[in-house]
Amino acid sequence: MSRVVLELEGVTKSYGPVVAVRDLELRATAGELITLIGPSGCGKSTLLRVVAGLERPDAGTVRIDEQVVAGPRDWSPPERRRVGMVFQDHALFPHLDVTRNIAFGLDGMPRSRRRERVDEVLGLARLGHLARRYPHELSGGEQQRVALARALAPAPAVVLLDEPFSSLDETLRGQVRADTVALLRTTGTTALLVTHDQTEALSVGDRVVVMNEGRIDQAAGPVEVFEQPATRFVASFMGEAVFLPAHVHDALLTSEIGLVSTVPGWTGTDVDVEVVLRPHEVALAPSPEGSGVVCGLEYHGAFVLHSVRLPSGSLVQSWQPHSVRHPPGTRVAVSVVAGVRPTLLVGDRAMTEPPG
Ligand code: ADP
Repeated sequence: MSRVVLELEGVTKSYGPVVAVRDLELRATAGELITLIGPSGCGKSTLLRVVAGLERPDAGTVRIDEQVVAGPRDWSPPERRRVGMVFQDHALFPHLDVTRNIAFGLDGMPRSRRRERVDEVLGLARLGHLARRYPHELSGGEQQRVALARALAPAPAVVLLDEPFSSLDETLRGQVRADTVALLRTTGTTALLVTHDQTEALSVGDRVVVMNEGRIDQAAGPVEVFEQPATRFVASFMGEAVFLPAHVHDALLTSEIGLVSTVPGWTGTDVDVEVVLRPHEVALAPSPEGSGVVCGLEYHGAFVLHSVRLPSGSLVQSWQPHSVRHPPGTRVAVSVVAGVRPTLLVGDRAMTEPPG
């Protein structure tokens, strides 16, 4: 097991009557890159601010490198926490060139060591050729690299990145994201990255933390979060999904579209559930006897999203390759792609074992 670098235990923070984060538990191990996602107002920034020491939690403990930095009896100010921060707007000092921006956090170091460290970081971030430029002479992507280099220069225990790519345009974002992740990886940095982009959360994170109303609904690997969402909220927030009433009888899952899958281990059960179906899990075949009727087409380039109305009025969605277009009004047989084991919900929670 890797060393735990950041640990939050029972952390709660309210602003007046608003509980921004509630009883949070989170651990990050050395070198781990955690993405943090959730709707606006769910408490992501508050969590970052509590870790950075910009807010004091009402309850709970924050440990960095096994040292309590916030707790009932302990408090370390931001500058003593070994936490680096990168913001959406980069927040570079406009009157300092790249070198001096990066050197800014290295006050305590002897001069020669400081110069060495700045050169080292300039090299790591591939910024050597821009060392004498001022922020306004840099592209958005370069400014972002300087901001990260500045955060990494003092060799922090943890780096917090608050929507670091959202001010960049779409074409630049992919490259800057790849550069950022590469730099975090080569330096073995432990990082918490806030994003509002589901694909980014899944593609960048070793683990994805999904927050909802101040709580963590799920903290797991990206594949698990997408394929085995823990709650209704996670299922609907992390990608498209529809929820169909369904029934498990003796390990067979059926719904309006017929047999959905087997549910190993659920022999002897007889229980109503809801099945979570994502568009890539739903197959369509035009058929005059089909029970579904195509009611909408959305062209997404590589794929075409088909919406299909079932006799009950429920809607399912299906990704089809770009060459396939069943026009609205087409009757289709709807089934679930072979091998898919969809998530089952009882109430708002996913069921991994038979109830009772
Ligand atoms: P997110 O970053 O996920 O959008 P925040 O952590 O900024 O969420 O906010 C969580 C909740 O706390 C929201 O309801 C927000 O309005 C409230 N909040 C955040 N900061 C303050 C503050 N300084 N004063 C009062 N309420 C705040």
